[in-house]
Amino acid sequence: MAVEDGVVRRTDPGAGHALAGAYAVDAIATHDAGDASARGAFERHLARCPDCRDEVAGLREAAGLLAATCTTAPPPALRSEVLAQIRHVRPLPPLAEPGSDGGRRRPLRAAAVVVLAVALVVTLVLGLVLGLDVAGSG
Ligand SMILES: [Zn+2]
Repeated sequence: MAVEDGVVRRTDPGAGHALAGAYAVDAIATHDAGDASARGAFERHLARCPDCRDEVAGLREAAGLLAATCTTAPPPALRSEVLAQIRHVRPLPPLAEPGSDGGRRRPLRAAAVVVLAVALVVTLVLGLVLGLDVAGSG
């Protein structure tokens, strides 16, 4: 059994009993690359192991009690303080749309406009020069 990013992954196929605690608090990985999930393997073990079923039930009850004892009511003035302070919070600028370039292509667009402007000027100048030559030769 290994813990990565708070998720328990099965590393030993025979460690069925050891996952009861992790299963009780929903901390077993549901997807393992290239193998059946650790959660599925433990649920198959759980179906035929009454000791683990009892342990999971007891641990879930204890976890529920822990959550109930940690609940605290917010101070009565909290709501009015938040609503008063929220008037002074500047909103963040909008995030870039998913898949957009986030403005990274603006320099490329500006360069393209400059290149097109230079090409237009060169074309006009050449047209004038050639036009004068045509007029001079004809
Ligand atoms: Zn068991």
